[in-house]
Amino acid sequence: MAGNPWVVLTTDKLIPKGTMPNPKRRHSKARRDRRRAHDFLVPQSLAECPHCHEAKLPHQACPYCGYYRGREVILVKESV
Ligand SMILES: [Zn+2]
Repeated sequence: MAGNPWVVLTTDKLIPKGTMPNPKRRHSKARRDRRRAHDFLVPQSLAECPHCHEAKLPHQACPYCGYYRGREVILVKESV
């Protein structure tokens, strides 16, 4: 089909067929910075093990004593 080689995407500009879709215009610095406002690392929260009182990850078995919910669920090798 030897038709019109131009496709109308906007009312003000003709774009050649086969052109990849691209942003029409650059975003402002304020818009970029607003997007990045939530891009930061947060410190890992720690809970105290009720058995050995070491700091451990919450909702996980304690890596120091192997206890979770009052009973030993993993075997922890004792350091000599
Ligand atoms: Zn513990």
